[in-house]
Amino acid sequence: MVNQERLVAEFLELVQIDSLTFKERQMADALMGKMKEMGLEVYEDRAGEKYNGEAGNVIGRLKGNKEGPALLFLAHMDRVEPGTGIKPVVEEGVIRSEGKTILASDNCAGIVAILEALRVLKEKGDSHPDIEVAFTIAEEGGLFGAKALETGQLRAKTAYTFDSSGPVGSLVVRAPAQDGIKITVRGRASHAGVAPEEGINAIQAASRAIASLKVGRIDKETTSNIGVISGGKATNIVPDQVEIKGEVRSLVEKRVDEETKKMAQVFVKEAAVLGAQVDFRHERLYSSFHIGEEEEVSLRAVKALKKLGLKPERQALGGGSDANILNAGGIRCLNLGNGSRKVHTTDEEISVENLVKTAEFCHALMIT
Ligand SMILES: [Zn+2]
Repeated sequence: MVNQERLVAEFLELVQIDSLTFKERQMADALMGKMKEMGLEVYEDRAGEKYNGEAGNVIGRLKGNKEGPALLFLAHMDRVEPGTGIKPVVEEGVIRSEGKTILASDNCAGIVAILEALRVLKEKGDSHPDIEVAFTIAEEGGLFGAKALETGQLRAKTAYTFDSSGPVGSLVVRAPAQDGIKITVRGRASHAGVAPEEGINAIQAASRAIASLKVGRIDKETTSNIGVISGGKATNIVPDQVEIKGEVRSLVEKRVDEETKKMAQVFVKEAAVLGAQVDFRHERLYSSFHIGEEEEVSLRAVKALKKLGLKPERQALGGGSDANILNAGGIRCLNLGNGSRKVHTTDEEISVENLVKTAEFCHALMIT
């Protein structure tokens, strides 16, 4: 079965390869090499050219030796900052960074699970359907690699990614849609001491709007946030411009539309009180999805978990992942828990036990 020593060694090897968003060259080369060695047909797509990144998505194909729908396994190659020069430490069965960086178990835990599962498959001579692998670029901050994935080149309509920090066995069956929002409030500059009457204070106008907005948890399914604000040049100038960035998320797609619209209305109305103008821009960064219990992608996951004696737990997630993009593009994709903890922080950790379980689960999916 899964070779724990080999799995942990590969995890430690991969987290030490620098691979920030759009800087995945070394990681892409390493993963292509590993898959070629295992006899997969491997290529790199054009996602890198599209975004001017260092590398494209890495795609691998293993021909099946039994009938059945093709399966796609995904993990992302990039990681958040501080994520360079990672020095992993293994202590009493738990892997952490030495404390100055993240660990990058998000998403190296997923990568090594897929690689190990492929190795076990070959060693045991298991029968399996056609298997496709996609190691994506730039998932963090925009799901860019998944968006550029040429799904027309893929055969699979069923996919799995191990990119949730829930326990192994948790299945993300619902995830929200998200709007990214950029607001510019424009006032008029003037000397704050000599002619304040001639100015329109953009900071005050923006503050009025933000103060009258409802942000945070809007309802059970919907959240919103104002996350970044910048503006003003000096204390003696009435500020003429403020830039604000925010977001709206909801498990219910049309609630995103409604809340974004509400935010725009509040800004326009409140800024107008002081005579300021508002430029409100929003973009649907990804769509929501909901995967039913009776869908093939769910049934296979539940069956594979049962074989391992693990309990399936259906969950909703507050964030987006490559699964949002695939589901919107017609490939049913479940995001699966890999048992990482405190991802995106310098306290990020994963137990060896969870690394092993995730790899076993991945292997079970391939042969179920
Ligand atoms: Zn991730």
